[in-house]
Amino acid sequence: MRDWPLWTLRRSALAYWLVVDAAALALVVWVVISSGQPTPEQVGRFAAIAGTAGVVIIGSSIHSHRMGESERNPWAAHLCYLTAGLVSLPCNLLVLLLFGPALHGVLAQRPESHRWVFTLSATALSVFGTRYLIGWANPATELIVMIGAATVLLIVRAALIALGLKLRSPAADRDETVGEPIDAVLGIVAVSIGGLMGFVATTTPVHALMAAAPMALLERAAQLPHWRRSAQRDAKTGLANAVHWDGRARYELAKARPRTRPMAVMLLDLDHFKKVNDQVGHLAGDAALSAIALLLSGTVRRGDLVGRFGGEEFVVLLPDAEPAIARSVAQRVRMAVADLAVATVGTDGNEHLLTGLTVSIGVATTDRFGYELPSLLVAADSALLAAKGCGRNLVEMA
Ligand code: GH3
Ligand code: MG
Ligand code: MG
Repeated sequence: MRDWPLWTLRRSALAYWLVVDAAALALVVWVVISSGQPTPEQVGRFAAIAGTAGVVIIGSSIHSHRMGESERNPWAAHLCYLTAGLVSLPCNLLVLLLFGPALHGVLAQRPESHRWVFTLSATALSVFGTRYLIGWANPATELIVMIGAATVLLIVRAALIALGLKLRSPAADRDETVGEPIDAVLGIVAVSIGGLMGFVATTTPVHALMAAAPMALLERAAQLPHWRRSAQRDAKTGLANAVHWDGRARYELAKARPRTRPMAVMLLDLDHFKKVNDQVGHLAGDAALSAIALLLSGTVRRGDLVGRFGGEEFVVLLPDAEPAIARSVAQRVRMAVADLAVATVGTDGNEHLLTGLTVSIGVATTDRFGYELPSLLVAADSALLAAKGCGRNLVEMA
């Protein structure tokens, strides 16, 4: 228990996560103790909802496993049948539905199981909070109430989770805390299918089975954000890959051109990097690349667009950067890399602290080279060559 990664959270995040977990646990225990026995008809509804969800989630897990998908986001499917239970089941059977995501967390053995527990707790609190609003004993199923309930459920859940993630990493951006727009769409689809399923289950439980196909489709669609991110990111460094960076840089330049906003492109190449591979090993080289990518993202300005250009070359687009600003950002990066120490393991198996890494940087600005990306890159590349020629660990302006 002492080595749980939970304890590595910042103090404010740890306190908040524990409060959310404890509140959810207390609520669940209270619901179980205070609810009466469900009727056979309610048990029938539960069986229809849980059975449908079980078939979809287990089927989808098997499919993902066979396709070799290592990461999956099953929360859209969980949210779907929890919504169905929210509008159609007594509270103690709704608690039983929460065993779905709980079991999923245990079986999937995630590296960050405390995050799974936190998400589950936030989901439980938002589900029961919404239930309280629409009627604890007999939830209302009028259209307007169901739309309101779905909205409250999504917003409260997103807010509880976003606050926890923000406390955990204050530097995290909106996409990481609140999610991307596609996550909101998936949430809306999940609660809509769930609402329909629950509504149908209140009249003829067996018809809830018809939700299996849309739920299975939702489950697949919920993987889209992950697939898109992997297509856009470089796996080794987590930065935008060259193709994605290129597209975004062209878009930003086209946007900046009509108002002649000053922009700059910075091309970076690590100095004598082959030596690192030859002397300490390729794995140590990879660790250095990841560390430099992280450092680079944290050293440029907010809004600068960092990408991995190629092997040990990085590229940055700096919007609204006059030449003097671009130069100072480049100098800051150069100095930060020179101060970097990366803990690695060498080919001999011993720990090795990699220091003395340096980078050469070429910078091209739109005031001299215009807004066409290829021209800026060619100019930045020739400035980079000049920096290499003048002795390395230098910034050259094109
Ligand atoms: P300089 O740029 O200062 O002229 O010297 P250099 O040794 O860095 O030369 P160059 O840029 O031509 O070589 C790049 C080297 O970077 C070659 C390759 O061994 C290494 N490299 C490229 N991509 C990777 C990678 O993904 N991982 C590791 N470990 N090494 C890489
Ligand atoms: Mg190179
Ligand atoms: Mg190099």
